[in-house]
Amino acid sequence: MKVVKTIAEVREQVKAWKAEGLRVGLVPTMGFLHEGHQSLIIKAVEENDRVVVSDFVNPTQFGPKEDLASYPRDIEHDAKLCEEAGADLIFHPEPEEMYAQDYCTFVDMDGLTKGLCGKTRPTHFRGVCSVVAKLFNIVTPDSAYFGQKDAQQLAVIRRMVRDLNFDIRIVACPIIREEDGLAKSSRNTYLNTEERAAAVVLSRALNKGKALIESGEQSAAKVKDVIMEELCKEPLARVDYVEVVDADSIEPIKELKGNVLVAIAVYIGKTRLIDNFIVEE
Ligand code: AMP
Repeated sequence: MKVVKTIAEVREQVKAWKAEGLRVGLVPTMGFLHEGHQSLIIKAVEENDRVVVSDFVNPTQFGPKEDLASYPRDIEHDAKLCEEAGADLIFHPEPEEMYAQDYCTFVDMDGLTKGLCGKTRPTHFRGVCSVVAKLFNIVTPDSAYFGQKDAQQLAVIRRMVRDLNFDIRIVACPIIREEDGLAKSSRNTYLNTEERAAAVVLSRALNKGKALIESGEQSAAKVKDVIMEELCKEPLARVDYVEVVDADSIEPIKELKGNVLVAIAVYIGKTRLIDNFIVEE
């Protein structure tokens, strides 16, 4: 497995693979990989002949007061995990390789980027769409793999692919969790011992919501209430949002119909964590 830093090297390698008729999968990441990322790579390896993992902390998706500088990075550890999972190439560019000094082109989206995380992170999805569009153009994969963990991001990418006619299949992968239920995330490393114990409240609260739905509840407000009530029991938790939305449009809904996304964002201390589940029609 190779680690390359330039767009030219990725293009050359992918071109050679495509000349042999090989199918190429892409797994976009911000690095500091864990088993969640590995599950995407493993799925990509199953479905493709070659797999590229991008490992890039994308500055344009961070707000001015967010954790760009402190975001954890460890390319050697990442390379080991990628190799273990069966990836063929890591694309690990410097920001200057991706963004020229006079860079000024962005992919923006209305509608489904405005709610949920878009409320507290108003420029986030513009950065995500722009970097993913660039990665799609650089790697030209047949398929690209994204985690359900970032459910709004997944909906946004699907919409971008549809609206801009990228000829790329988007594959959604389930959330990988710690043993106690906490969704794996690179940001979990910010949590101290006490906060780590408190963070389990996210999955516990979602499980209460899920149980209520399974018992037949149809009202989004009631599902939100039961989740909020559980979250409020944890003194270290500060709720950013609890929302019940249509999984494709990210529009809030009142009654549980169609594919429904139940999503939450909660600060545990200073760390903002997200989690969700989907109710399929
Ligand atoms: P990130 O490095 O956090 O930008 O994540 C890169 C990709 O890995 C995204 O598609 C995420 O949704 C996915 N991912 C992150 N954490 C998990 C997890 N716990 N389970 C499944 N996928 C995940």
